[in-house]
Amino acid sequence: MSCISVQVSRIENSSALAFEATFPHRISKKKSGASWEVQLPVWRPGRYERGDFAQFILKMVGIDVNGKEIKLEKCDLHRWTVPCDISKISWAFQADILNAGSTYVSDDLQYVNPVNCFLYDPEKVDLGYEISLKGIPANWDIATALPQSNMTLHARDMQHVMDSPWMASPNLYHERFEEGGVDFHVWAYGETPPQQQKFIEDHQSFCKAQISSFGDFPTPHYHFLYLLPQEMNARHGVEHEDSTVIALGPTAKIHTQNGYDELIGIASHELYHAWNVKRIRPSEWTPYNFADTSPSQLGYVAEGVTTYMGDLFLYEAGCIDLKGWCSKMEALLLRPLNNPGRHNMSVAESSYDTWLDGYRSGVQGRKGSIYVEGAVLAFLVDTRIKTLTGGDSSLSTAMTILWERFGKPRIGITADAYWDVLAEVGGQRLDDLRVNYADGTSDTWNALTEAMLTKGLELTKSTQEKGIIKATITEIKLT
Ligand SMILES: [Zn+2]
Repeated sequence: MSCISVQVSRIENSSALAFEATFPHRISKKKSGASWEVQLPVWRPGRYERGDFAQFILKMVGIDVNGKEIKLEKCDLHRWTVPCDISKISWAFQADILNAGSTYVSDDLQYVNPVNCFLYDPEKVDLGYEISLKGIPANWDIATALPQSNMTLHARDMQHVMDSPWMASPNLYHERFEEGGVDFHVWAYGETPPQQQKFIEDHQSFCKAQISSFGDFPTPHYHFLYLLPQEMNARHGVEHEDSTVIALGPTAKIHTQNGYDELIGIASHELYHAWNVKRIRPSEWTPYNFADTSPSQLGYVAEGVTTYMGDLFLYEAGCIDLKGWCSKMEALLLRPLNNPGRHNMSVAESSYDTWLDGYRSGVQGRKGSIYVEGAVLAFLVDTRIKTLTGGDSSLSTAMTILWERFGKPRIGITADAYWDVLAEVGGQRLDDLRVNYADGTSDTWNALTEAMLTKGLELTKSTQEKGIIKATITEIKLT
């Protein structure tokens, strides 16, 4: 089958990328047929708000058979009408933002997240892409989960290309290891990872722990793409189908113990997304509709369960000790304890509204966080299932069932499906947790302290300077 071929190159001496794409199924000799349309995504997976990437489009033209440029008119903010006799489109994209989800070009880096800057034909989303990277010196490495040969990358369809970033640079750190039959790659731009040997060993440990919990891994290979800028402040990870991009900086930070812990904390979180979100996915995001906002109430599963599990697997894999897990939980609890918004809007409602103000502080006291309130709820669910089953089952057991039943066959999950599986695993319904803490705004503190006690941990809170409420978790010494 024919595929869409795209050439990508840097516009000389600029921070912009030039794209030229041929849509072979649209080649027409007639001048009087129906026009067609191309779409640029309005949002990207991993950030559930509009990204409005068309604001970075500098130019959008069609190229006719004589090579003449013809300006394309918009029919929507992110959609252009293409005359019937045009099958080649050329555009330019300003690429000067460097974070884990962006697209960026400089003298020594081409980092592309295609969902920012690739066009697709909404009527032909099953067509593959062949991407030629032009002007990249032969000695540059290309880090990506996409199959590649001779500076050409291949994606099987539109969903695949949109979820497959690449990073090209002359100075990439590269290490690989095998775990559970999976070929893992660790790439880094800007700086070699801190404590290199331990860094790789820790990756191997949490990969092993997660794979043995789920039983298998969704893909035969997986790539950790680290952006470690020397000067810039960054702390950010984005999950993809067969890879993740993690940005942390500046360099001084990643060489501290806290910086190291943050790096592997983000990495474990992102790997867990290979199952939860990339495959076990809310029905509203199955498949992703890049042309429109797609609110879902299940952010507390997508990000809450992942936040909780990412840290738990670091502990279970031995990358951090119990004290380390407790510190992470204390840091996490700082946010809900000091955010009255969680009493105003449930975590399910806050999930839906990430599309409005989920990634900024917004109106004070309005909303909660899908990450932290979602993680607290995941902890309560996990503890309840373990208590009900005498430790035989857990939230991990439920997630494995969701992986088998929904993730593998790519069936979207609903809130009912999620809570039904939890009930199945726990042996009884967990509706009080759902009503109070997922769909309701009840305070979780008492439930949290009880859940901590079942683990031999005492949870207390105290008011610090400037009225900040801090949680402290201590091991109970049994006499
Ligand atoms: Zn996440």
